[in-house]
Amino acid sequence: MRISFIGMGLMGNPMAGRLLANGYDLYVYNRTPEKAQSLRELGAKIALSGSEAINLSNLIILMLTDGKAVNEILFSNEEQDFTGKTVIQMSTILPEESFQISEKIKLKKGSYLEAPVLGSIPQAQEGKLLILAAGDEELVHRNSEILSSLGYLHYFGEIKKASAVKLALNQLIAALSVAFSTSLGIIQKEGIETEKFMEVLRKSPLYAPTYDLKLKNYLSRDFTKANFPVKHLLKDVQLVRREAEKVGVSTVSVEAIEKVLEETIKSGRADEDYSALFTTIVP
Ligand code: NAP
Repeated sequence: MRISFIGMGLMGNPMAGRLLANGYDLYVYNRTPEKAQSLRELGAKIALSGSEAINLSNLIILMLTDGKAVNEILFSNEEQDFTGKTVIQMSTILPEESFQISEKIKLKKGSYLEAPVLGSIPQAQEGKLLILAAGDEELVHRNSEILSSLGYLHYFGEIKKASAVKLALNQLIAALSVAFSTSLGIIQKEGIETEKFMEVLRKSPLYAPTYDLKLKNYLSRDFTKANFPVKHLLKDVQLVRREAEKVGVSTVSVEAIEKVLEETIKSGRADEDYSALFTTIVP
């Protein structure tokens, strides 16, 4: 089966690499062409435009920044035909954006699945992403082999549900990072040994593995190795706020997190790892 993979950013690149390693016949496209070159060396063919990528295959996978980018790629050519094509949208976008895209694809006689992911570059490289899928169950089943080569597939029902689960999970990334940074800041400022604090925390029900995952960054205050940059976490927290507003969940804490991330970006750290929010909480 020939597949087009659009978006060779931090995540799309290793995900496409994983599909090539599993023997899939792949066309790749990236707006900035240089980022697709490493995939050519792994056996991918390069599409010269989004439209070409869509026209060349019956299965189109998208891993782009946001809903705006997804809409631009899919619909900037109004004549684009999707007859017989399936689009699997894996970027983090609003449930409503995903629904609207799904409806437009349907009108253009194509099929659509949403399949955002939890996990980052290492999990993408190893095929161990947590894939949150929604859409027609039979269509998910038909594409389960390719999705399973990227990670572990979890099905959530109709379109919107998986996008909502993704936002709920990313809310936790942001909230846990802010909460741990605040506690670690107090420990450091009080002159308490971090490892002794961690020994207790690890044995308690308050522990989450993400604390240890980022502890080295917090202690060294070096956030330059970015798997998931601050700017993308801010984008996701803004989506969480909009979704919470929509469904009537309080946004008080989400707005506070948004401010922390905005401050971190103002200090010039937009492209650093999201754990750089520590520098705002513990200046
Ligand atoms: P990234 O490195 O910034 O890549 C974004 C991609 O989108 C690039 O290929 C970029 O092309 C493309 N793009 C942006 N605007 C575009 C437009 N208007 N037209 C065409 N292409 C456009 O981001 P990423 O980290 O791979 O993340 C991709 C998605 O996955 C995001 O929704 C993110 O929230 C989500 N996600 C990320 C992680 C992570 O750990 N990084 C984990 C899970 C989910 P250019 O190269 O030309 O800019």
